[in-house]
Amino acid sequence: MARSNVSVCMDTTWMASGNCNNHPPAVFFPSDGVGVEVAKEICSSCPVKESCLEYALDHRVDHGVWGATSERQRRRILKARRAQRVSVSS
Ligand code: SF4
Repeated sequence: MARSNVSVCMDTTWMASGNCNNHPPAVFFPSDGVGVEVAKEICSSCPVKESCLEYALDHRVDHGVWGATSERQRRRILKARRAQRVSVSS
């Protein structure tokens, strides 16, 4: 889902539609790799996965699984986006 940064920051109504509403919050803050995979599997069929990921990226959420990504994956996405912006502007 394409969303502007402003709308992602302001609009959190998508949260009510997330698959995670049917699971304990702790599932999405796992302490090991197996737990990360469990959470990512739940996210994989979530109808608001894209909004969730953009929200986590915009807010620099560095704990837990959001939008079917781990903390490490989100750091990589942010790094790649920064590199892309630098290459476009130069
Ligand atoms: S993508 Fe995952 S964490 Fe995000 S709303 Fe959906 S189920 Fe919840």
